[in-house]
Amino acid sequence: MCGIVGYIGKHDAVPVLLDGLRRLEYRGYDSAGVAILADGKISVRKKSGRIANLTDLIAQSPVAGHVGIAHTRWATHGGVTDANAHPHSDQSGRLFLCHNGVIENYATIKEQLISEGHTFKSQTDTEVLAHLIGKEYDALASAPGTARLVKSLRSALTQVVGTYGIILMHADAPGVIVGARRGSPLVLGLGSGENFFASDVSAIVAHTREAVYLKDFDIAVLGANDFEITSLLGGASGYEVSKVEFSADDVSKGSYAHYMLKEIHEQPETIRDAMRGRLVREEATAKLGGLGMTPQQLREVDRIILTGCGTASHAAMCGEYIIEALAHVPVEVEFASEFRYRNLPLPKDTLVFCISQSGETADTLAALREGKRKGLRVLGICNNVASTIARESDGGVYMHAGPEIGVAATKSFTSQVTIMALLGLMLGRIRHLSTTEGLRILDELEALPGKVARILAQSDHIRAVAEKYAHAKAMMFLGRQFNYPAALEGALKMKEISYIHASGYPSAELKHGVIALITPEVPSVFIAPEDSVFEKNVSNIEEVKARKGPIIAVGTEGCDRIAKVADDVLWIPECPDYLSPILASIPLQLLAYYTAVHLGCDVDKPRNLAKSVTVE
Ligand code: GLU
Repeated sequence: MCGIVGYIGKHDAVPVLLDGLRRLEYRGYDSAGVAILADGKISVRKKSGRIANLTDLIAQSPVAGHVGIAHTRWATHGGVTDANAHPHSDQSGRLFLCHNGVIENYATIKEQLISEGHTFKSQTDTEVLAHLIGKEYDALASAPGTARLVKSLRSALTQVVGTYGIILMHADAPGVIVGARRGSPLVLGLGSGENFFASDVSAIVAHTREAVYLKDFDIAVLGANDFEITSLLGGASGYEVSKVEFSADDVSKGSYAHYMLKEIHEQPETIRDAMRGRLVREEATAKLGGLGMTPQQLREVDRIILTGCGTASHAAMCGEYIIEALAHVPVEVEFASEFRYRNLPLPKDTLVFCISQSGETADTLAALREGKRKGLRVLGICNNVASTIARESDGGVYMHAGPEIGVAATKSFTSQVTIMALLGLMLGRIRHLSTTEGLRILDELEALPGKVARILAQSDHIRAVAEKYAHAKAMMFLGRQFNYPAALEGALKMKEISYIHASGYPSAELKHGVIALITPEVPSVFIAPEDSVFEKNVSNIEEVKARKGPIIAVGTEGCDRIAKVADDVLWIPECPDYLSPILASIPLQLLAYYTAVHLGCDVDKPRNLAKSVTVE
């Protein structure tokens, strides 16, 4: 949600910033802008729409310099206009700021500033923060420069309520960029004779793989050759220099038309990576060392809460079915945005898992903090190493899926569900599952990547089916048991990237209301593998057929019944019920992808969305 890049060093800042913005564009694409400091003056170029618009503007009206800040926006306050694009300046026009987050008390501060004579050019909360820092700066009697800028930033930040990852610069302090964070991510990249700020390392990994992940309340002053981190709460702040594990190539599309397609095709590998080193054949179980819990502590867990947002909440629902089936531990799934404000009875042996690909999702982070406040052990399931959720949780499991850039989550979903299966196996084996059962589950897990590859090999068939139904008015996604969450996820993918309205339901719920929507223009996608509820699904398919609704089924290879009853079938290999949502989600990802491509939609950057939702 919004991307920030800052550069100070020996090279021209503009190409570095534009390249960084392009790599962060998945975080927001309402507008983009840069501010460049040169010869004691700051010049700004900003434009609504995609980064390409900003690039055109800079080509017409060039700007250059060795210090600069840049932003790609996902609007929260104020429409999508040039004026609302970041960077924003203070009243003096000498201080410029880029911001990710929301200043909740901006209206009160703005009113006060207006009464003091400030005038505003935008409707954003961000501009208010810029003015507030500028006001504090102008009020200080000390000599102009870095120390005064940091002092004014500190006093402004103590007055604001909300979240921020910010970078700013002042014409009086040409040798530094200053950054601060609370609730929104910000990372420092360390180069030689040059340094960087970014919302996430993918923006700067082409230049450096040394990173310092800032913590909440950190204030960082960045020069070309040095940096200093202090805490808003007082004194120096400790930090660690981390090595970024992936390279610039990992964040490129390669030969694929879209990031989403690349990420769908990476799944045999990413599912394998989610299991790598975690399957222990000698003990017929899975080991998740990152949880930091002894078998005794794991045995004492008598209730699990799985929480997340969007796709992660669907993975959590798959987890509910899988863990209950394999381990017989009661599981509840809560949207993180609800969990954070509920006052659930939470017995002390409840274990909470916060699931977030980015590890920065604001609601999930708040849920984590709420769980900890209540004295529970809270674990994270994240992809992004060193993310805030990973850092603040009591332990957890990394997905190891590599960077996910496509806004619509794909490989992170299957990694999350795979981890749910590992958890189910591990918890089951210390309760009632036998060695034989454990080994059978291990065999099935190990067979998954090969089965996913087999589904991917049918892409041409899936594309043909997608094109056949691409002009549907709406779509229904239906499944039972383990595949009910897979139906929800299939519907979400279709909505997110093709803008076709799609609803996900348990198959049997159809007749309790939604069947009213069925017409020849509304296809139903039934996830109906040959599992324990296959016959029940077939009956529901018949009910839809009787009302002339077209049927696309996800069926088990070789199943004649489904071939006869459905208009089109997307085939998946045979597998146990508890792993079927992983396989079923693959053709549904491709179905959504090819539908969106056929309709000419911007697959990697769907309208109104952004990856990594760091605002509430
Ligand atoms: N609240 C700011 C705005 O609407 C920043 C939003 C963002 O994080 O992109 O401009």
